[in-house]
Amino acid sequence: MNYYPFDIGEPFQTQILDAFRARDAAKTARDRSRANARIRSIRLSAARAKGTHTDSEWRELCAKFWNRCVMCGVHCQRGVLQKDHVIPIYQGGSDAIDNLQPLCKLCNLAKGPDSTNWAAYRAEHGFE
Ligand SMILES: [Zn+2]
Repeated sequence: MNYYPFDIGEPFQTQILDAFRARDAAKTARDRSRANARIRSIRLSAARAKGTHTDSEWRELCAKFWNRCVMCGVHCQRGVLQKDHVIPIYQGGSDAIDNLQPLCKLCNLAKGPDSTNWAAYRAEHGFE
């Protein structure tokens, strides 16, 4: 069975397969929840192994788009914009600044599996 089709590199690939098997074998909700937490933690480690960003890089990125959500254009107070991973972490995306874009809470919630790079779009077309 193909538990995890995304390339997150070794040793994370091995670790995440173990975590998925542990979740499948879980007998209690508590064990399942532990396995899910482990899966999330492995995905984040794999994303950080591919690239990281600093707080100041993130602030600069938000400032570049005037602290507006790159999807809907709404202006947000400093610190309110959420870090959206263009290629989601669960699909093997990195945590580097070039894979991040600032979204408001509503757009981030509504986005689902869409992986449009809105930051690249705004950099080219601006806000209308
Ligand atoms: Zn928005």
